[in-house]
Amino acid sequence: MLVTMKEILDKAKEGHYAVAAPNVDNEHNLRACIEAAEELNSPIIIGVPIHSKPNPDICYFGRIMQDIAIRASVPVAINLDHGGSYDECVMGIRAGFTSIMVDRSKLSFEENVAEVKELVKVAHAVNVSVEAELGHVGGGETYAVDGYENLTEPDQAAKYVEETGVDCLAVAIGTAHGFYKGEPFIRFELLEEIAKKVSVPLVLHGGSGTGDENLAKAAKLGICKVNLSIDLRQAAIDELNNADLTGYGLYGFYKYIAKGYKDKLSHYIRILGSEGKAW
Ligand SMILES: [Zn+2]
Repeated sequence: MLVTMKEILDKAKEGHYAVAAPNVDNEHNLRACIEAAEELNSPIIIGVPIHSKPNPDICYFGRIMQDIAIRASVPVAINLDHGGSYDECVMGIRAGFTSIMVDRSKLSFEENVAEVKELVKVAHAVNVSVEAELGHVGGGETYAVDGYENLTEPDQAAKYVEETGVDCLAVAIGTAHGFYKGEPFIRFELLEEIAKKVSVPLVLHGGSGTGDENLAKAAKLGICKVNLSIDLRQAAIDELNNADLTGYGLYGFYKYIAKGYKDKLSHYIRILGSEGKAW
């Protein structure tokens, strides 16, 4: 069942759990994600970053995603992750995504509000959800426990949501994209304060490497969506490395990759508390 991200996240907020948002780039890991969600009877949000290197044809892939999501037995939202320019975001809407992330987190507050507000107007006109980011979630390679900057400021976040009309908000509370250099330090007090002041569901980027306990706790304190990529890819590679690919075993190549992806995602679905929450 193809749904908007807003439908999934509003229910998650009410139920105090989070929904996994795996990044995919081809039909194999896309199907693996949907199978994991179906087996655990969980809603799922499947994302493709706009500049996905393995699958640069977002328009075509969006149509494939839509077609497969419609047939799923659980609610599936498809999200254009880290949407780029105005044109790219509109292209995502046209490609059939039921949600777009308009990432303007590197701009000033005023510029961020102005650009996101404009795309919210366009997206909502055709029932597409919008995620935006305030504060900035950086890369794990430059992660420093004490020096991590650009965290989300609660009062500013409340004002931002009010002014833009976004459906959910990605917050910077200490996670980072990609591989962490050092241990992640999540500011749970900050998350609680943001959750108290902001009316829409909150999103955590950089879920990989954050740790099961941290993610479970974040899900209880107001995070409703957790983006995952690196950990799923690593699990797929590990599965492939342990497989017997000799002779006709070679034909199992994609099967092993999909299994690694699926098993790791199933683990995260359970951790985040969305198992059994499909409708
Ligand atoms: Zn991200």
